Amino acid sequence: TPTSVTVLGLGAMGQALAGAFLDAGHPTTVWNRTPGKGEDLVARGATRAATAGDAVRASDLVVVCLYDYDVSRAVLGPIAADLSGRVLVNLTSDTPERSREAAAWAAGQGIDYLDGAIMVPVTVIGTADALLFHSGPKAVYERHASTLKALGGNTVHLGEDHGLAAVYDNALLDFFWTSMSGLVHAFALAGADGVKGADLAPYLSALLSIFPPAIESTAIEVDSGEYPGEQAPLVTEAANVDHIIHASEHRGLDVESLNGIKAVLDRAIAKGHGADGWTAIIESVRAPEPAH
Ligand code: NDP
Repeated sequence: TPTSVTVLGLGAMGQALAGAFLDAGHPTTVWNRTPGKGEDLVARGATRAATAGDAVRASDLVVVCLYDYDVSRAVLGPIAADLSGRVLVNLTSDTPERSREAAAWAAGQGIDYLDGAIMVPVTVIGTADALLFHSGPKAVYERHASTLKALGGNTVHLGEDHGLAAVYDNALLDFFWTSMSGLVHAFALAGADGVKGADLAPYLSALLSIFPPAIESTAIEVDSGEYPGEQAPLVTEAANVDHIIHASEHRGLDVESLNGIKAVLDRAIAKGHGADGWTAIIESVRAPEPAH
C-alpha cells in the first residue's frame, strides 16, 4: 500500500506537493496556518488536519514547505514530540547553515531528517522533468525515495551533509538571478535605442548555446585553479565591460551591477591575472573587498 504523507504548508508550492502525492495515490494529510487554503486538495481526497500536531500524527513521512526556516522552526518546535520517530523532509528554501541547524535540532529530538530543495516552479511539480535535491542520511532517503519521486522524476540525493541541498540550490539560483538581471539589463540597453525586445530576443537565445561548453570548461578551471586566457585575456574583456558601462551611462541606465562586475575584474587584474581568462575573477570573488 502507498505510504501515507503529511504536508505542512499549503502555499503555492505546498499545494503542488500535496497534489502530486495525491496523484500518485498516497493518502495525504494537509495542514496550513491560515484555514481555507487547499479546498481542491480536500475535494481530491486529502484529509485536512485541524492542527500541525494532528497532521504529523497521521503519517510516518512529513513533508514541510513553508516560507523560510524561521517559520519552519516556529511550526515544528512545538510539535517536536509528535515528530519524534518519524521522517521529516523539509523542502523549504534557505541557506545551508539553516539546514544544518535544523538537522542538529531534529537529531536532538529523535527525528529522522532530510533537507531538500525544489528547483522548479509549481507547474512542473509531479512531472518527469521536476528537479528536487535531497541531502541527509542515505538510508532515510532510500526508505522513502519511491514516495518522494512522486514530486518529480528528477529527484536526486546529493549526500549525507544536510546542507548540500541548499548548497546546490543557492549556487543554481546565484547563476539564475545574476543571469536574469543581465538579461533584463540587455533589453533595457538595446531598448534605449528603440530596439524592440522581440527583435533582440533571437540573438540572446542563440547566445545561450555558448553556455553548456562554457560551464564545462569553467568547472575544469575552477577545479584546477588554472585559467587559460590566450584567446580572451581579462585585460581585453575589461575593456569590453567598460564599453557596456559607458553606453549604459550615456543612456541614463543603472550601472551598479556592471560596476560591481568591473570592480571584481579590476581586482583580479591587479592581483596579476590580466593575461588569464574570465574564470580568474574567482580569485577576487573568494577575496572580497572589505565593505566601506
Ligand atoms: P507561499 O508564500 O505561497 O507560502 C508560504 C507558506 O508559509 C504558507 O503555507 C504560509 O501559511 C506559511 N507561513 C508563512 N508564515 C508563517 C507563519 N508565521 N506561521 C505558519 N505558517 C506560515 O510560498 P511557496 O509555497 O511558493 O514557497 C514555499 C517554499 O518553497 C519557499 O521556501 C520557496 O522558496 C520554495 N519554492 C517555491 C517555488 C515556487 O515556485 N513557488 C519554487 C521553488 C521553491 P499562510 O497561508 O497561513 O500564510
